[in-house]
Amino acid sequence: MGEEILAIGHAQPDTDSIVSAIGYAKLKRELGKNVKAARCGELNPETRFVLERFSAEEPVRIDDATGRRIILLDHNEYSQAVDGLNDAEIVEILDHHRIGDVETSGPIYFRAEPVGSTSTIVVEEYRETGVPLDDRTAGLLLSGILSDTVILRSPTATERDERVIKELSDHLGLDYEEYGKKILKEKSKLGEKEAREIVLGDFKEYEFGDGVVGIGQVETVAPDEVLEREDELHDAMEEVVAERGYTFLTLLVTDLLNEDTEALFEGERVEDFEEALGTTVKEGKAFLPDVLSRKKQVVPPIEERLAE
Ligand code: MN
Ligand code: MN
Repeated sequence: MGEEILAIGHAQPDTDSIVSAIGYAKLKRELGKNVKAARCGELNPETRFVLERFSAEEPVRIDDATGRRIILLDHNEYSQAVDGLNDAEIVEILDHHRIGDVETSGPIYFRAEPVGSTSTIVVEEYRETGVPLDDRTAGLLLSGILSDTVILRSPTATERDERVIKELSDHLGLDYEEYGKKILKEKSKLGEKEAREIVLGDFKEYEFGDGVVGIGQVETVAPDEVLEREDELHDAMEEVVAERGYTFLTLLVTDLLNEDTEALFEGERVEDFEEALGTTVKEGKAFLPDVLSRKKQVVPPIEERLAE
């Protein structure tokens, strides 16, 4: 079987990162490789709901990848990865994000495609290798696609995602719209979370130009519940900006059903933020109509602006 390889998604894992690791590790094992699913950080409530729904086990938690052999899923940048990745051996990458900064010592299988989720690519890997997809893995991967594409509402969703969603939900006898909304409801639960946990819950850092920008996102079917805590959230954001020396931090409060976003803003270069996104920040907040995707609609214009 060879030395153990870990299949792992990004830090602060979302459902796609977790289920694509589970699904891809399973496929690799079917193909005779010694691959185990891993995770970097705690599961969010949505992912817990999904694993429970399909009676699946949590991937093993890894906090340091030093000396390990790694398959990266759903990311390819060190700033989003498990600690110690610099001193690990990356043996494969499956992703649907921009190409980041990872380096390898030899040639590897690197598959990055502009589709709605890594789970979509994993399903296609099953099809291409002819390995049958069992119902549990099918349900998990379906959940990953529904979550990442916001039930195909996100501009990141493609015909390939749609085809796979329809195929898997037909096979499982699941109404994907209805099941998808259950997932989104779980995503929206704030519970007892502190403001800081909300800011850093689904959070990514980007090195743009000579500074670092933080972009958090809360995807919700109940944006009012988030925005009524605006003052508290601003305090927490201010704290994070000061601690980490960010150029700025924005928290995208995305209304999944109305398909728009209120962006809270803290930090410097507010004019660049406004210019990049064609918006105005008033009292620390900007409205972004039709914005659902951090990756596709927020990151590229900010990167372009700050790289100048
Ligand atoms: Mn992800
Ligand atoms: Mn993803």
